[in-house]
Amino acid sequence: MSRIAFIGLGRMGDPMSGFLIDGGHELAVFDLDDRAVARVVAKGATAAGSAGEAAVGAEFVITSLPDPPVVEAVYLGEDGLVAKAEPGAVLIDTSTSSPSLARRISQAAAERGASAIDAPVSGGPMGAEAGTLAVMVGGSDVDYEKAVPVLELFGKTIRHMGGPGAGQVTKLTNNLLAGCYMASISEAVAVASREGIDPNKLFEVLSNGTGNSRVLHTRYPVPGVLPETPASNDWKPLFPVDLAAKDLDLALAVADELGIDLPMTSTARSRYRLVQDQGDGGLDYSAVARLLGQEAKAS
Ligand code: NAD
Repeated sequence: MSRIAFIGLGRMGDPMSGFLIDGGHELAVFDLDDRAVARVVAKGATAAGSAGEAAVGAEFVITSLPDPPVVEAVYLGEDGLVAKAEPGAVLIDTSTSSPSLARRISQAAAERGASAIDAPVSGGPMGAEAGTLAVMVGGSDVDYEKAVPVLELFGKTIRHMGGPGAGQVTKLTNNLLAGCYMASISEAVAVASREGIDPNKLFEVLSNGTGNSRVLHTRYPVPGVLPETPASNDWKPLFPVDLAAKDLDLALAVADELGIDLPMTSTARSRYRLVQDQGDGGLDYSAVARLLGQEAKAS
């Protein structure tokens, strides 16, 4: 049994932390949202007064936070995770964040005698509930080996992608694809709908053709076709537009540093920006399809 700190108990962190408790570990948790803390305390965790407090005495510290500014503040802020980490502790960031920030955190942790890896996840809240997330790790061989037994509690496919930041780079390639797929699925559905094609039959054909993808299955953007999709549930977010947009921005920033142009990703990003401009950044990212519905109606 290990003492583990878990910071950020949202759509992903809540179910992930549950697997650590089920695995017999002693969990100290922190989130700004008291209701999120209460849900995990009800499963057997102990509430800490701050992220830094949770890290005191912990062998592993796991975070699942919204975006790089929050990750930076929680890790590198005064009394943050790096300042409070025990020597030898492994800090594991499962948030989707910036590769360069991951490298800075790794360096800062090493200076304190602890270590940090980036371990972003893919599979969404459903994968988190099922304990079947894909986990892509950036960090040293030694830290990766130490972290694997913990990551296995909520992950199914765990891969060491390279040194610090490599996990985040890998995750950004995944979400670049998801963002572009979703924007493209919206266009395919808009064309078929305008031609009066039955959306149920369209799904059957696309999902058995070369247009198939996991995004198509989990986010088919026509209400009433698949009961589990956000489209059939008032666009309730499994992965909100705001997070998808953040990830496309991160991918574009990495490409910019590398001097690579990403025209498809830039175009997809502009579609999600339109949704944000309408005040719908909190809806699931499949709501990008509504732009075409609205445009179609307006013409
Ligand atoms: P979420 O908004 O549901 O959860 C984030 C949690 O962090 C919230 O409970 C929030 O209160 C808490 N938080 C914010 N600032 C904090 C702070 N300073 N200290 C402590 N807690 C703080 O988001 P999510 O969907 O669970 O995503 C978490 C991370 O995982 C993000 O980086 C996201 O991009 C990534 N991710 C999400 C999905 C998905 O499908 N939702 C899939 C893979 C990865």
